[in-house]
Amino acid sequence: MSLDLARLRAETPGCAHVLHLNAAGSSLPTKRTLDATLDHLKLEAEIGGYEAADQARDVLEGFYPSIARLIGAEPGEIGFIENATRAWDLAFYSLDFKPGDRILTCRSEYSSNYISYLQVAKKTGAEIVVVPDDKHGQIDLAALERALDKHTKLVSISHIPTQGGLVQPAEAVGKIVNDAGVLYLLDACQSVGMMPIDVRKIGCDFLSATGRKYMRGPRGTGFLYARTRSTAQIEPIFLDNHAARWTGDREYKVIPDAKRFENWERYFAGVIGLKVAADQANELGMEAIWARLRALADGLRARLAKLEGVTLTDLGAVKGAIVTFAVAGADHAALKAALRAEKINVSVSTQFSSRLDLESRGLKDVMRASVHVYNTEDELDRFVAALGALCKAR
Ligand SMILES: *Cc1c(COP(=O)(O)O)cnc(C)c1O
Repeated sequence: MSLDLARLRAETPGCAHVLHLNAAGSSLPTKRTLDATLDHLKLEAEIGGYEAADQARDVLEGFYPSIARLIGAEPGEIGFIENATRAWDLAFYSLDFKPGDRILTCRSEYSSNYISYLQVAKKTGAEIVVVPDDKHGQIDLAALERALDKHTKLVSISHIPTQGGLVQPAEAVGKIVNDAGVLYLLDACQSVGMMPIDVRKIGCDFLSATGRKYMRGPRGTGFLYARTRSTAQIEPIFLDNHAARWTGDREYKVIPDAKRFENWERYFAGVIGLKVAADQANELGMEAIWARLRALADGLRARLAKLEGVTLTDLGAVKGAIVTFAVAGADHAALKAALRAEKINVSVSTQFSSRLDLESRGLKDVMRASVHVYNTEDELDRFVAALGALCKAR
């Protein structure tokens, strides 16, 4: 099924205002998502926050099956968390690392995750092992297999990095990691909403995602998937009176499903907004979205390749909707600002997001243009023309 572009744009209020190529930062939501979020905020103001939550109970509970459907999970394997980093943290910091335990990761790993490895390594004596890339710039599966040993406690990678088109072979990684009986944590912050995700096929034990990027949900939303079969015995690092019951003066009982990772207090309007955004992705179909995004991104890469001074910097055998490039001799931040003045939104990825990857390739930073379903071929022409004119004017 192909997507109805005119309708997608009409349903996205931001399309009337900006040429938005920053879905990897924060995408444009639909009017339906915006209205659902605003309506609940309004209801809270009108009848009271607790009363509004009671009234919206069915929609709020509907969050779990909607997200579960999007990634092939069970509703009880989903917890609402305010963003991807905290969702990831809740999984990672709940693991009990001992001296000599090995954490395997990849070169394109996200900075916040890596900072957490460093902190846990410092505190516990666990060891960080960075698995090298293969010739495509994705994790080397043979090297991963060799690196797995009896001291390996966790394999943790980002599915799609923030700084490029690379799509890691998450399913092949999962097969190797599952066979070794090691826990597998997948940062799917950029991939959920961009491409079809099936946690059963991938075989991850935990998966973290954010609302505002490819899911087109509100800011301040995200979720954690925790596979029941392998993580039910893992007690969250934080507990509150939502995650556990105070069953006696000296005892508590942790609730059994993934809600044990949640907070009692939550951005309820955001839960509803993210549910609606997930429903819309399910309705459009992730296969159709992924096909459209790859066509747009490949078209953008082809256009950029023709511009003088532009070098594409995306790695990977499979490339997704995030397009990155370097402009010879240019200050990328200044280019981004100049484009912003023309109502064209792009971003710049720096070593702040991913040191290992960009530094080893000799890149201080890269320009990032990330497409979503509401973008058109005309917009890509307009963007590349504007970029070309700015490059010439220097
Ligand atoms: C953006 C991003 C994150 C962080 O997501 P937040 O919702 O801002 O916490 C984590 N990992 C990757 C790969 C990202 O691109």
